[in-house]
Amino acid sequence: MLANYGYIDGSGQYYITIDTDKCIACQGHFCVEACPERMFTIETDDYDDNVAVIQDAFRHQIKYKCAPCKPVSSHPELPCIKACTAGAIEHSW
Ligand code: SF4
Ligand code: SF4
Repeated sequence: MLANYGYIDGSGQYYITIDTDKCIACQGHFCVEACPERMFTIETDDYDDNVAVIQDAFRHQIKYKCAPCKPVSSHPELPCIKACTAGAIEHSW
């Protein structure tokens, strides 16, 4: 399942999408430690699988919380995406 966390405002769409089917097989959950803002956490879903989610407190702040990782001009590979070797994480902006 693709789970979207984020929002739309006047400046654009800011969503982090997590493919939870890939999380189910993940052993390391490296996204949790890789994010300097600690936005990810692991929760047990309705099917008793452990999947990554963006914590509630950050879901309406991701544009600002992610800003240090992704300056407007150019940025290196994002820590969260680099850590998730399963390729479960996408950013919409
Ligand atoms: S590292 Fe990737 S696959 Fe593993 S829990 Fe985090 S988002 Fe899911
Ligand atoms: S871009 Fe940076 S702050 Fe945003 S989720 Fe990824 S690692 Fe965390």
